[in-house]
Amino acid sequence: MPEVEFWAHHLEQNKSRNWHSNFGPLSEKLESTLHLMYGLNGESVVTACNATSGLSACLIAQDIRGPVLCPAFTFQASACAILGAGCQPIILDVDAQTGIVAPDQLRLAFAESEAKAAIIVAPYGISFDATQHARVCKEAGARLIIDNAAGLGINRKRFLARVMVDNVDEVFSLHATKPFGIGEGGAVFTPTQNAAALRSAINFGLATHSGNGATKPPYWGINGKMSEVAAAVGLAVAERMAERVCRRQEMVREWYETFADHSDIVYKAEIESSPWQVFPIFLQSETLLLKFIHKMAAKRIELRRYYFPSLGDCGGMKAIQECTNSRKLSQVAVVLPVRSFMQKKQRSSLMATALESLEQVLTEG
Ligand SMILES: *Cc1c(COP(=O)(O)O)cnc(C)c1O
Repeated sequence: MPEVEFWAHHLEQNKSRNWHSNFGPLSEKLESTLHLMYGLNGESVVTACNATSGLSACLIAQDIRGPVLCPAFTFQASACAILGAGCQPIILDVDAQTGIVAPDQLRLAFAESEAKAAIIVAPYGISFDATQHARVCKEAGARLIIDNAAGLGINRKRFLARVMVDNVDEVFSLHATKPFGIGEGGAVFTPTQNAAALRSAINFGLATHSGNGATKPPYWGINGKMSEVAAAVGLAVAERMAERVCRRQEMVREWYETFADHSDIVYKAEIESSPWQVFPIFLQSETLLLKFIHKMAAKRIELRRYYFPSLGDCGGMKAIQECTNSRKLSQVAVVLPVRSFMQKKQRSSLMATALESLEQVLTEG
């Protein structure tokens, strides 16, 4: 997190204009800054108090009701956002290798449900080409919402051609644990024609209300606005974000080198496809995974199981199919740390410890 001296001065603007919330000067400035850094033509940025509210707002803005498709392999927030919008999550399985919902699976799920929207997840904030998914949704007359919570920080042009997709929202988290970390925050990249509805959806649906009642959606909303203090921190993070991403990608390059002899357990992706919240690996079994976590813990390195448990094992969630790939991925996935600012010596020691622990676990079986 940036030191106070790098963001406190932004708050002078709020004082001089006596404007402290509700699309204030700083959240507006953060939106235009994010658009300049990562936005596409025809797109606008709407900030939110976190990604979960941003995801809910995408559904509310379009007046989506009833079932919404959601992958079983994700962080719990994806399903929470659907419930928070008054809709019903219906989970579906992901590809066994990529952890992403395949376009064909999405097509089948639309055929088997009445869903008018789907959330798909970019696992670990590693971007992928979603144009086929967008096409499938368009054919189904549905909205596509990409939960790319951990993925803010890269050039998005290669992954989404905005000219083709006017039915897609992409949602990022600015939570302290994400690469673009500001504490709590979210940012939605949405087609410009949807921006006003989205703003209304995070402000109780007020903008579309009138004396005669609302005539177009959203008909209601949540309080999902970003605070001006959070936006001030965001402006400070933006200033150094290019450097952060560069350093994180460098660290991931080192992780790949460290595990060069274990290419079967690493998640294969281009370095440039993510700002790398974490470095995910997938062991052969849950038993090995737990042994590895304990071994690392004994050396005072805490690892996180992510995403665990899979939504299919959370209970109370309707499913299109038995989500076996998601369950398997959840049982064997663990993430290794990536940091924006970590000394070379510390990085080397961390990676040597991880490699040593892994090889011990593999030999012991
Ligand atoms: C972190 C995360 C979220 C939640 O983001 P918040 O800003 O904390 O609401 C949602 N989805 C995924 C995949 C995440 O990793």
